[in-house]
Amino acid sequence: MLRAYKYRIYPTDEQKVLFAKTFGCVRVVYNWGLDIKSNLYKEKKESIGVVALTNRMKLELKAEKEWLGEVNSQALQMAIRNLDTAYQNFFKKNGKYPNFKSKHDRQSFHNPQHCSVDFKRGVLNIPKAKNIPTVFHRKFKGDKIHDVTISKEKDGRYYASILVDTFEKPLPKKLVTDDTTIGIDTGLKTFAVCSYGEEFAAVHFLKEEKRKLKLLGRKLSKKKKGSKAFNETKQRIAKAHSRVARKRLDYLHKITHRLTHENQVGTICVEDLNVKGMVRNKHLAYDISDAGIGMFYTLLAYKCQWYGINLVEIGRFQPSSKQCSCCGYINKTLTLSVRHWTCPECGASHDRDHNASVNIKNFGLATLRMERPEVKPVECPLVDDRASAPKKQRHREAGKAISKCNLEAPKSLA
Ligand SMILES: [Zn+2]
Repeated sequence: MLRAYKYRIYPTDEQKVLFAKTFGCVRVVYNWGLDIKSNLYKEKKESIGVVALTNRMKLELKAEKEWLGEVNSQALQMAIRNLDTAYQNFFKKNGKYPNFKSKHDRQSFHNPQHCSVDFKRGVLNIPKAKNIPTVFHRKFKGDKIHDVTISKEKDGRYYASILVDTFEKPLPKKLVTDDTTIGIDTGLKTFAVCSYGEEFAAVHFLKEEKRKLKLLGRKLSKKKKGSKAFNETKQRIAKAHSRVARKRLDYLHKITHRLTHENQVGTICVEDLNVKGMVRNKHLAYDISDAGIGMFYTLLAYKCQWYGINLVEIGRFQPSSKQCSCCGYINKTLTLSVRHWTCPECGASHDRDHNASVNIKNFGLATLRMERPEVKPVECPLVDDRASAPKKQRHREAGKAISKCNLEAPKSLA
């Protein structure tokens, strides 16, 4: 299994110069390749592969720009490979059309070979740069380094992301039982509510820094563009933003770690929230991005895979908040502002979010049982299998599951 480890590095002045040069060269090669690919496609509807483009780069571009020879040639080849991946993602509809890279954005380059670490001395070695001071806050097992990405963030910090083959296999999927299944409802009022009762508060990291950022933005607008003071203020804004992002990521890691380790959890059911679709709603976009709901699902998905936990998405259009989790009555009059309600059918009193999380758990279990009536643990559908099925079909399946299964009252509420 490949795992990425990200460390902060403190390159020497000499290494910083080399990095700056490499960032520049990689950017030039990437943009040159993108230009060729775009034009070829526009004019002749043709594409050019990695090998052909790499050969052209060696013959044409390197002859024209001799300074490209001063940096690690493999980093340049990786730039072309990355461009190709970006194109493939675009054609698979997994990403946007690749953009030209700018020197004002985050900078990075890849080293696919000849990299090593020395944990004792706290240094990282890559081609052309030896003994880069590195803070190894955690060690990794296995010494097969797949590749090393050196990056410089907008706030001026340098990082090394090391991709390591750990030779571990993901743990086998756990058995699905009612007791070890939890449902999670995510929202903006409370970040996450679990069916077993635990809640995680919503923290608005960006909102906390908003006043400061506003002030800095006003300062920046009064400075002359390109002046020393302008660049310093810009740096301070970048630093504030990166602090926000780091705090948020830390919080999300803590929640997802807890969820995947708590109560011997074996199955986690979540709503298939179309986060991207929600962000397009301009009234909610700011809050959703600030809460980091999209990132939460990404982290949760890979941690579930590592620890052998079944992750089940339920259909986005299931009435998870409106249905009574005890008797199945659907409260059609329930609006967003109502946080507590009492079921007119069975008299159960519900906290809106908790009721939703219990429903999500029940829908998830029902979906699993429908798909594989007598499941053995290992054969439970992985989230990856489901993701490849077309969306419409998935929702239809989920709908069928609900209509055929009787929802029992969960133990926690009984
Ligand atoms: Zn009820």
